Amino acid sequence: MPGNILLLDPIATNRILMRVRLTAGYFSVTPCATAREAFDLLAQQSFSAVLCAAQLPDTTLATFCEELTQRRLAPPVVVLHKAPGGQALLDALAAGAMDLVDTSESDALLFARLRALVRMELPRALPDGLEPTPADTDRGFREAAAGFQPSASDDRSQVALLHLSPHLGVVWQADLRPHLATKLLPLEVLHQQAFLDSPPDVLILGCAPEDAPAMPPLVANLRAHSGLRNMQILALPGTDCPADVAQLFDLGAEAVAPRAFDPQEIRHRVRQLDERKRRIDAHHQHLDAALHAAVRDPLTGLHNRRFVHAALPQLAGQAHAVLLADIDHFKAVNDRYGHDAGDQALQQVAKRLRALGAPGDILARIGGEEFLIARPCPTARIAEAWAKALCAGFAAYPVTLSDGRQLPLTLSLGLVHVADPCPHSDLGQLLKRADEALYRAKALGRNQVRMSKSAA
Ligand code: GH3
Ligand code: MG
Ligand code: MG
Repeated sequence: MPGNILLLDPIATNRILMRVRLTAGYFSVTPCATAREAFDLLAQQSFSAVLCAAQLPDTTLATFCEELTQRRLAPPVVVLHKAPGGQALLDALAAGAMDLVDTSESDALLFARLRALVRMELPRALPDGLEPTPADTDRGFREAAAGFQPSASDDRSQVALLHLSPHLGVVWQADLRPHLATKLLPLEVLHQQAFLDSPPDVLILGCAPEDAPAMPPLVANLRAHSGLRNMQILALPGTDCPADVAQLFDLGAEAVAPRAFDPQEIRHRVRQLDERKRRIDAHHQHLDAALHAAVRDPLTGLHNRRFVHAALPQLAGQAHAVLLADIDHFKAVNDRYGHDAGDQALQQVAKRLRALGAPGDILARIGGEEFLIARPCPTARIAEAWAKALCAGFAAYPVTLSDGRQLPLTLSLGLVHVADPCPHSDLGQLLKRADEALYRAKALGRNQVRMSKSAA
């Protein structure tokens, strides 16, 4: 199925006719008669787009669009209209619709328009638990993703105008100025790396009618660049030929304005595209932060065991050392000072280990009061010297809690040195050997390093 369309029209015959048309285009269609029904359906399943009559029995189009926008998964709305004039389009766009469809337009154009909308479907929001928390931000994991703010006043957004006839571009930019600030780009920009690295949020593509054949290859070219994937393209092809407009949708333009250049229409369309771009950006930031958090220990900010399993095999191609460090008598800290003080102590230990390490080290909290540190290391002798220095460096100063109390903590360390690069070494076996060495360090009195016998 090309897409799942919610069809909202109070007139039964309209619903039947449109459903037949869309089904022939392989769309899956769910019809309904009122906005209330539409919201009930939207609560149950997701739709790629809402095809909506201009007149609704139980609300206005603007209120309907507004309510949809408040839901984070709001699908784009397209208004259906019989023989619309320019004002009907402006009204629909102003109400928050993405586009307006003339019900008498060809199936080819209708389907291309809907396919473009289906492509534009926003990614699902992350479950609430995976959104970055303020605590993640406090620890400097990542800046919190800016919440999505639908807004027409865009000091942050970048809107650029690229015109195939540069002199007309200057005129358009001036005509747009009272409505919309745009940056006029020269055609050469398409060959500049800076443009690919930092594209505008919305690119308005314009051309004079005689240049119309140059527009499809330009859109195709822009879409071919992965770095421009999320840039929103508004094409003004200078022709309203349905086949040409349909082609631009299919080549990847998010919106096409085939009517004569109208700054008001462009302002509305850019606002829609810019809001969509912000949602995409916010989603990517959330996704990045969630991935980041998935390999972190929330208490200390160090990496976690999951990260170790992914990162340690990357050291296997070279000689390296793996240290398991366990805090000595840590239970007594909890017993004497309480669990909160214990947590604070763990955070201070993590800080100390970070300070004692080097930038390329793998450093993770892999258990309650157990840490793993690994780094490339050419010989067992160097590995042992490093581990001993770490043990002594750690014990040299007490850990200080926020209320000034000082805890003289020590570590026991189990060390494994892997001398022969072996990309397929058994991680479980390696950790078992480190654990056995750690056990011996504990048994021999703690606050010391023991090296795995088989590696010594
Ligand atoms: P050993 O020298 O043999 O390692 O003695 P130990 O007391 O450190 O070891 P044991 O395994 O008996 O106890 C570990 C303690 O670490 C028990 C547990 O309460 C504490 N612990 C583990 N995870 C956390 C944590 O996240 N926060 C706090 N506050 N304590 C923790
Ligand atoms: Mg332990
Ligand atoms: Mg311990």
